[in-house]
Amino acid sequence: MPVDQSLQVTAISAFDDNYLWLIHDHEYAAIVDPGDATAVEAALATHQLKLAAILLTHHHADHAGGVPALLRHWDVPVYGPARERIPGIDHPLLEGDVVTLTSPSLQLQVLDVPGHTAGHIAYVAADEHWLFCGDTLFAGGCGRLFEGTAEQMTQSLEKIAALPDNTKVYCAHEYTVSNLRFAVAAEPDNQRTAERLATAQALRARGIATVPSTIVEEKLTNPFLRYRAKSIIERLKNSGRLQVDDPIAAFAALREWKNVFR
Ligand SMILES: [Zn+2]
Repeated sequence: MPVDQSLQVTAISAFDDNYLWLIHDHEYAAIVDPGDATAVEAALATHQLKLAAILLTHHHADHAGGVPALLRHWDVPVYGPARERIPGIDHPLLEGDVVTLTSPSLQLQVLDVPGHTAGHIAYVAADEHWLFCGDTLFAGGCGRLFEGTAEQMTQSLEKIAALPDNTKVYCAHEYTVSNLRFAVAAEPDNQRTAERLATAQALRARGIATVPSTIVEEKLTNPFLRYRAKSIIERLKNSGRLQVDDPIAAFAALREWKNVFR
């Protein structure tokens, strides 16, 4: 029987709601954001895979914390953001860099997407139409602004929104239902958002992941890609959260509202 060498992306659940993404060809694997080494080792053993590379999006422990333990077992390259100090990185990356792996056979383009953290990067597999965006874009939402400004985050999200519509969005957390509950509050007249919330709730009720999503789905329903929409601006103004006509201020007001939304 011929060996199936097609590339696959498998979700590894970790902590409360993290997804670590395992990209493999049924023999070799690259892991994106291994916050939990034990969970990665278990998945490698289950699927009988050899680890070949580690890819990091940003420095938070739930994304990079498993690197030292994995490196004790696997002698593999560690790719990650050049603008963040993460122990173990031997291939620092900036926008425009290309990661070329031979096993699994994969090319990834690097985008700088600061905002959640100062040096956050994302990986785009252009041939496969995959995006690994860490905590920058989520299904129905976006990451908190811990180290960057609203202006930086809008620029980062616009770069991501410019990817082809059919790009699959592999974000790092299962936050979709709470994000879409907020999205419905921010844009109640968006029927697609309401439908997407119902679909996500039904999936979660059965314990099924709501990710990956797609770029087009995000453009149609994610308020953090839609902050220029008239109805969102009006909602922010009518609730006293926005006083000026400025898209960056609207984005910042939306992000602050989400921070306190229950
Ligand atoms: Zn993070």
